[in-house]
Amino acid sequence: MVGQRVRTRFAPSPTGYLHVGGLRTALYNYLFAKKLHGEFIIRIEDTDQSRKVEDAQKNLIKTLEWAGIVADESPEKGGNYGPYVQSERLDIYDKYCKQLLSDQHAYYCFSTHEELEENRQLQIKQGLQPKYNRKWLPEEMGGTIPAGLIKKKLDEGEPYVIRMKVPDYVSVWFEDIIRGPVEFDSATIDDQVLMKSDGFPTYHFASVIDDHFMEFTHIIRGEEWLSSMPKHLLLYEFFGWEAPKVAHLPLLLNPDRSKLSKRQGDVAVEDYIRKGYSADAIVNFVAMLGWNEGEGSEQEVYSMEQLIEKFSLERVGKAGAVFNIDKLNWLEKQYIKNRPTEKLVEVIKPILKAELEQKKSLMPLEMITSEAYLEKVIALMRERVGFEHEFVTFSSYFYFEPETYDGEAIKKRWSVDTNDLLREFVELLESLDEFSADNIETQLKEFVAPKGLKAAALIHPLRVVTSGVSFGPSLYHMLEVLGKETVLRRIQAGIEKITFPV
Ligand code: GLU
Repeated sequence: MVGQRVRTRFAPSPTGYLHVGGLRTALYNYLFAKKLHGEFIIRIEDTDQSRKVEDAQKNLIKTLEWAGIVADESPEKGGNYGPYVQSERLDIYDKYCKQLLSDQHAYYCFSTHEELEENRQLQIKQGLQPKYNRKWLPEEMGGTIPAGLIKKKLDEGEPYVIRMKVPDYVSVWFEDIIRGPVEFDSATIDDQVLMKSDGFPTYHFASVIDDHFMEFTHIIRGEEWLSSMPKHLLLYEFFGWEAPKVAHLPLLLNPDRSKLSKRQGDVAVEDYIRKGYSADAIVNFVAMLGWNEGEGSEQEVYSMEQLIEKFSLERVGKAGAVFNIDKLNWLEKQYIKNRPTEKLVEVIKPILKAELEQKKSLMPLEMITSEAYLEKVIALMRERVGFEHEFVTFSSYFYFEPETYDGEAIKKRWSVDTNDLLREFVELLESLDEFSADNIETQLKEFVAPKGLKAAALIHPLRVVTSGVSFGPSLYHMLEVLGKETVLRRIQAGIEKITFPV
């Protein structure tokens, strides 16, 4: 492999959504390949036809692309090593399975499901690790079945699988880039099924064949596949092929350190997209699930380019990585804080447009959809939103009249005089020529002082009538952005709708 260009792959099964663990596997493969100016490939592993889900392949690729993980070769893009979907490569598996049969590294097995289950139960009862009992191992491979019987069964069309024969009394050793040396005793390795009775290969067989012919230099995948390594390595040895280097990534854990599960939160990347997380934050977050730059680095926010530059498998830990949603939320806020205003405007515009198709606004449409207006909203709300869509959804009062008013705030902030106070103040606002934050503030203070009231007696009610809620950015700035016409209309509507005591 000296001088060979690095080639890595993400090999999902098209069984549904993209799991966050899958995104991490894809990302690490991508980062590793790109750092070394190599190639990243997507291969679809659909040998389990019963679990295949319509459109899953398209969605997986689309979600990866959303995250900025674009393959150099894939089922959609093609490439020199295709086809990139396993169900289109059956003749290749067939050919190499025949070779293993004739080299006596594989054998036909006619055991029924019932027999296998019976055998399994018996072994469990005996305290043994369940394994195939080699009932159908042919005589010439050290078993008891005469060649004639196998031929007869095949001629009769009896269903069968093809199993690999794991050599006895050997130890399979390899060096995992993350875990270091790993050793397995062949006594613990099952005679893995290579070809199923439906003529499809198993994952183990197909992935070894493909990883070899697609010339991958490094296999980076989840820890759950570590125990399959010895079977795979034996297959490489049977064929006389050099095995790629391997790295098995640590498990993803819930905060209570149990294995990451749906029960404790979302695991589908699509769910996070739907909630409004940005690709930047998700990629940054997922990159840190098991990798860090090393001691001495305080950096937590990384762009894809920086990740490509800094990523290394040597800095991926062995210990499980805890999936901490607070960290993701914090990252999302960091990205919103630092994202250029014009980028945010670009994101907000279509969200607002969609809202405007659902709801009518009483504000001048040209104004609220203008860049200048959105920039002002962004300036006020940037530090307050958790997601980009919240510039519209969490701050809907910048575009729509309040539909309700915060009842708790009314209970707390209203007095019998409040509506009269608002009525009087609205007249003052009406007379203002300069509707600026500074001027509104000065006028409000001058208005309340002779009445022996504090500014708060008006500030809180004004916020409630103009926004419907009791929290938000600086009131004076918010009123300036909303504009005189809207503010006057909303105060008047509020006075009419809010009765005190409630
Ligand atoms: N198809 C396997 C999966 O769904 C791929 C495992 C591997 O990367 O070898 O995870």
